[in-house]
Amino acid sequence: MNILTFDIEEWFHILDNDSTKTANEWRQYDSRIHSNMERIFEVLDETGARATFFCLGWIVEKYPDVIKAIVNKGYEAGTHTDMHQLIYEQNPRVFSRDIERSIKTLEDISGKKARCFRAPGFSVREDNRWVFDVLVNLGISIDSSIFPAPRSHGGFSSYKADVPALVQYDGIRLKEFPISYTNVFGKPFAYSGGGYFRFFPYCCVKHWAKKSPYVMTYFHPRDFDAGQPVIKNLPLSRKFKSYIGISGAYKKLKAFLNDFEFTDIDGADKLIDWENARVITV
Ligand SMILES: [Zn+2]
Repeated sequence: MNILTFDIEEWFHILDNDSTKTANEWRQYDSRIHSNMERIFEVLDETGARATFFCLGWIVEKYPDVIKAIVNKGYEAGTHTDMHQLIYEQNPRVFSRDIERSIKTLEDISGKKARCFRAPGFSVREDNRWVFDVLVNLGISIDSSIFPAPRSHGGFSSYKADVPALVQYDGIRLKEFPISYTNVFGKPFAYSGGGYFRFFPYCCVKHWAKKSPYVMTYFHPRDFDAGQPVIKNLPLSRKFKSYIGISGAYKKLKAFLNDFEFTDIDGADKLIDWENARVITV
């Protein structure tokens, strides 16, 4: 099962950096979302792949034509929060307000029910598992935010498997489609999206995807935008992660979509026998 997803945000929505954190800072940058979306639609048209788009509420509100294009082309849309803040820096009340707003914006403009969620930076961790409660209360039934291994900003190790399962928390349940990874020299790498997809040679990505029964991708419009300006004064590690391999990434994406069959979360959801699915209590 290979699932194709995109997190729909601007080239300047870079986490872990003070000059790209709030809407005030975002105002100083020019938008590149339309040309970047065209590039994504083009490769999807060409390969016939299905995809789920996790859209930032801030984008949906500012550029309703972007979300309308996604829905009119028959793709599935979910939420990627309203303001792209890391969840472990929020409390349940603040997070709930942000998600409620993002869902309302998405549903008002798309005319469709939002049921899928992805956190910025996979920021659902053991210490903020209340996220699940907030999501279910707001009508979200599918999450795709768990990184099921340790990583620099936490991860969710107790999930213990990179396959879909039902997450059970405090009397509620929701469907989880975690991020997939492979171990390289004993360290887990989420090679199927973002900076890692751009960094690793395509032959490695192809090899790892081939031997994996479940691949969850997580691309961004900026991953394929070779013309984007470089944000000044980023910390070195963030700069590396943000700009490595962009020039060759679109070609790699095309090869990836040609070499493997991809579906969206809705398609994957229908393939799973949830009655007998594994239940992971967190
Ligand atoms: Zn994001």
